Amino acid sequence: MNYHQILSEIYNEVTPLFSKGKVTRYIPALASVPPDKFGMAVCTLEGEMFTIGDAQESFSIQSISKVYSLTLVFKMIGENLWDRVGKEPSGNPFNSLVQLEYERGIPRNPLINAGSLVLADILLSKTRDPKKDLLVFVRKTSGNPAVDYDNAVIASEKITGHRNFALAHFMQSFNNIHNPVDDVLDVYFHHCGIAMSCVELARSFLFLANHGVIPDTDEYIISKSEAKRINALLLTCGLYDESGDFAFRVGLPGKSGVGGGIVAVLPEKLGVAVWGPSLDPSGNSLAGTKALELFTTKTGMSVF
Ligand code: GLU
Repeated sequence: MNYHQILSEIYNEVTPLFSKGKVTRYIPALASVPPDKFGMAVCTLEGEMFTIGDAQESFSIQSISKVYSLTLVFKMIGENLWDRVGKEPSGNPFNSLVQLEYERGIPRNPLINAGSLVLADILLSKTRDPKKDLLVFVRKTSGNPAVDYDNAVIASEKITGHRNFALAHFMQSFNNIHNPVDDVLDVYFHHCGIAMSCVELARSFLFLANHGVIPDTDEYIISKSEAKRINALLLTCGLYDESGDFAFRVGLPGKSGVGGGIVAVLPEKLGVAVWGPSLDPSGNSLAGTKALELFTTKTGMSVF
C-alpha cells in the first residue's frame, strides 16, 4: 500500500473544504485556530508512521479524550458501568439536555458529554487523581511523555461551560452524579483540554486496533472482548448525531472532537488520525471526515 501517495492525494482533494464550515466558537480559546490547518497520520501495528500536513502539530483533542476515560473506567468497573450509562446512539447533539429528562438522568452512551461526565464522576469516586491518571495513560499509549494539558483551553471552557454544568447538576438530581459538580467538571474539562498531534493520537489508539494490547511494548491495557466493545461504541456513537453517516461513508470505528480531530482504527491493521478545525453543524471536522472517507475508499480497507 502506497500510503505516502494516498495521503498526498487526500490532502489535495480535501483542501477546498478548509474554507467551508466553522471553527468552534463556544470555547473562546479555540475560536482563533486557523481553519486551513490540516494534518493526517496513519500508524500501522508494525509501528510505521505516514503523515501529511500539520500532523505533528498539537491541537485540542476535546471529546476524543472520552475514549481514554471510557477505557480507564471500563477496565476498572467492567459491566457495572452500564448501570449508569447506556450504549445506544443518541441521535441528539453532543451537549443535549432533552434526552436526559426522558431517560431519568441516564446518558445514552459514554461518548456524549453527559456520559463522559458520569465517567469523570466514577473516576473521582474510585481514584485519587483522575487528572493525572488520564495524562499518564495518554503519555503511555501515545509513546510521548511530553503530552500535556492546555491550561488556556481548560480555563476558557470553564468560563463558558454552562451546558456541561447544567448536565451535571441535572444528573445529580437523578442521583447519577455522586461528587460535587465543580469537581466533576474540573476533571472533565481537564480531560477535554489535552493537546495532542495526529501522530500521537494515531499511535495512542493502536491498543484498540490490537485487541487491547499496545503493539510495540506488548503492554496489556484491556481484554480482547473489552476492546471489541469499545470499538463497537465508537462505530455506533463516536461521531455525535452523525455516527450513522460516518459509518456509512468511512466504515471505521472512530471518535471526533470539536477541536477538529477525528481518530479511527482498523482492527488488526492501523490507527489513523486527522485534524481539520472547520466543523460541520454537528461538530465534526468537514475535511477530516472527507479525508477518512477517501482513505478507506482509496485503500479499499474498512471493517466491512
Ligand atoms: N469540551 C467540549 C464540551 O464539553 C467537548 C465537546 C466535543 O468535543 O464534543 O462541550
